[in-house]
Amino acid sequence: MSENGPLDNMLAQMEQAREYVDIDDGIYERLKSPERTLSVSLPVRMDDGSVEVFDAYRCQFDSARGPFKGGIRYHPTVSEEEVSALAGWMTWKTALVDLPFGGAKGGIVCEPKDLSDNEIEQLTRRYTEGIRRMIGPETDIPAPDMNTDERTMAWIMDTYSVYQGYAVPEVVTGKPPEIGGTEGRVEATGRGVSIITEETFEYFDTNVEDADVAIQGFGNVGSVTADLLDERGANVVAVSDVTGAIYDPDGLDIEAVQAYAESNAGRLEGYDAEAITNDDLLTLDVDALIPAAIEDVITVDVAERLEADVVVEAANGPTTFDAAQVLKERGVPVVPDILANAGGVIVSYLEWVQNSQQYSWDVEEVNRDLRQRLTSAFDEMLGAYEARDIPTLRTAAYTIALERSADAHEYRGLFP
Ligand code: NAD
Repeated sequence: MSENGPLDNMLAQMEQAREYVDIDDGIYERLKSPERTLSVSLPVRMDDGSVEVFDAYRCQFDSARGPFKGGIRYHPTVSEEEVSALAGWMTWKTALVDLPFGGAKGGIVCEPKDLSDNEIEQLTRRYTEGIRRMIGPETDIPAPDMNTDERTMAWIMDTYSVYQGYAVPEVVTGKPPEIGGTEGRVEATGRGVSIITEETFEYFDTNVEDADVAIQGFGNVGSVTADLLDERGANVVAVSDVTGAIYDPDGLDIEAVQAYAESNAGRLEGYDAEAITNDDLLTLDVDALIPAAIEDVITVDVAERLEADVVVEAANGPTTFDAAQVLKERGVPVVPDILANAGGVIVSYLEWVQNSQQYSWDVEEVNRDLRQRLTSAFDEMLGAYEARDIPTLRTAAYTIALERSADAHEYRGLFP
């Protein structure tokens, strides 16, 4: 459980960075609250003929640097507070990797496992109608997040386009390539996590080929990260999902695990390996722990028992603020989410650029651009960390993000 909610966590992270940057007080105040959050209730006709009403949100946090950008998640824990924190993190992420975007996030309070495909489609289309006045290719561009995917983005694009009267592919990213999605988007976040993990190993003089890695979450991000690190020769000793974790000290056969999950509705339960708990996974003695599931899983209790040499945050907000202080005291470096999982938004940006030019790139070009942007952001974070004598990598990353966002506000001024 969270010691603080994700929004308190995000605000406390900002506050820690504040002492290392010179930001006008008024601008800092503006950066602490979202520009706006729309709350909608969505009536949906269920397959049995009844009508169910779902709560949903879209939070637009800051747009000083460009259009709002951020994913949409379907999950029972979605709340206004959660989407605000996630929208704030998107703002710092896009600033850190220097994309011309602001930050946003949306979500529907629901349990997708209990809904049919038809019900999810109706819910998605009704949500799109609910937020369509606030999204658009030049204003706010949604993307996938937990429990949403290419299919969901296609429905959003279609619903928005029907209202406009013409196809508007650039209103969302993470679409299927057949309707304007980019090559490489599905794997982008996991590919980015694996690039950042390799850069981190290099910085700490760890050979990727001798490295043991544990990954929590085997969805889009976790499974691609596992696959690419396995390909690079790392030993992925444990992976997990909501049903629990599987462990092999000699390294799991990731291809076999992926094939099993695909044939088992995405679940690892029942795979032929030692079963451990998610808590066991988080405290394994590995070279890198990669939380790639949900927020607030590394609590103070976990942080005190954590044995990994480094944490690479693939999920958004997986470490509570108090747990981060424990890890700092214990000397465990944490590569922050706003860098580690930025591959998704970078390739979303590339998709949006391609759509705007009605042009498409091949996967090699997309992956080259992704690697270049991520490695230079990693170097910039390390530059700030070392030059300014900042205590953690997260605070170093925040100083860059806050400075860039504050500069944009400074130049644009306050109007009206
Ligand atoms: P997903 O829905 O594809 O997968 C989530 C995985 O986490 C599943 O394996 C699920 O079983 C597992 N999980 C859920 N609750 C859990 C729990 N309580 N304990 C252990 N495992 C649990 O989601 P995803 O797209 O892979 O996203 C994972 C994380 O990465 C989220 O925090 C998301 O915000 C973040 N992220 C995703 C993207 C993206 O492009 N998909 C981009 C940036 C950040």
